Amino acid sequence: MPGREKIPPEKADIIKKSNAQKRLADTERLATLGRLTSKVAHELNNPMDGILRYLNLAMRIVEQENLEKAKEYLTQCRQGLMRMVQIVSELLEFSRSTYAPFEHVRVEQIIADAIKTMEAKAENSKVRISSSCAPETPEVRSGNLFQVFCNLIKNALDAMPDGGQLHISTRLEADNTVVAEFRDTGVGFAPENANVIFEPFFTTKDRGKGTGLGLAICKDIIERHNGRMTAENAPGGGSIFTVYLPMTAGVS
Ligand code: ADP
Repeated sequence: MPGREKIPPEKADIIKKSNAQKRLADTERLATLGRLTSKVAHELNNPMDGILRYLNLAMRIVEQENLEKAKEYLTQCRQGLMRMVQIVSELLEFSRSTYAPFEHVRVEQIIADAIKTMEAKAENSKVRISSSCAPETPEVRSGNLFQVFCNLIKNALDAMPDGGQLHISTRLEADNTVVAEFRDTGVGFAPENANVIFEPFFTTKDRGKGTGLGLAICKDIIERHNGRMTAENAPGGGSIFTVYLPMTAGVS
C-alpha cells in the first residue's frame, strides 16, 4: 500500500494560514448573523403580535356567525402565525445568548441551577431528575451553558410523556475535557435521525410544540465554547446527550 504523501513545510504553512483565515471568517459570519437575527426578530415581533390579535378577534366573530369555511381558513392562518411567533421568540433568545459575557464557573453549579429551574416541570411530567458529579471538576468558560442545560432537560422531559428518569453526570477526561452527560429513559430517536437532530428546524414534535431550533442553538453555543455535543440512543432505551467542554482553570 503506498504511504501517505508528505506535505512540504511551505505548503503546510499555507494550509495552516488558510484554515485560520477560514475560522476567522466563520466567526465574523456568526457574529454578523447574530446581530442580524436580533434585528430581524425584533422587527417581526410587533407586526406578528398585532396580526395574531386581529386574527383572534376575527375568529370570534366567525364563530358567532357559524361560518365554517372562513373558520377553517382562519384556523390555518393562526397556526402558521403561531409557528412564526414561536420561531421568532427562540431566535430572540438565541441572539441574546450571542452576547452573554463569558465567565469562569463550575459545570456542577450550572447543572444544579438548571435542575432547580426545571424541577416543577419535571414533577408535572412525573420525571425524577438525579445527578452525580465528579468531585472537584475544574471550571469552564461559560457564556450560556445554563440555557443549553435547561434545553437538554426540557427535551428529555418531552421524550418521557409517561414519566421516567433523567440522570445527569459530569466527569473529567484525561485530555482536560469536562464532560456533562444527560441520560434519559424516554422514547429515544430513530437511528436515521442521528445526523439531522442538530439541524435547524428538524423536529418530530407536534405542531405548536417544537420549532426544531433548540438543539441547533445549543450546538452553536457549545461550539462557541470550543466544545462539542453528541447524541446517541442509550443501550437500554432512551437517549444520551453529551456535552464536551475544554477546562479553563488557571486560564485568565
Ligand atoms: P424541538 O424540541 O423544538 O423539536 P430540538 O432541536 O430541541 O427542537 O430537538 C429536535 C428533535 O430532536 C426533537 O424534535 C426530537 O425528535 C429530538 N430530540 C431531542 N432531544 C431528545 C431526547 N432527549 N430524546 C429523544 N429525542 C430527542
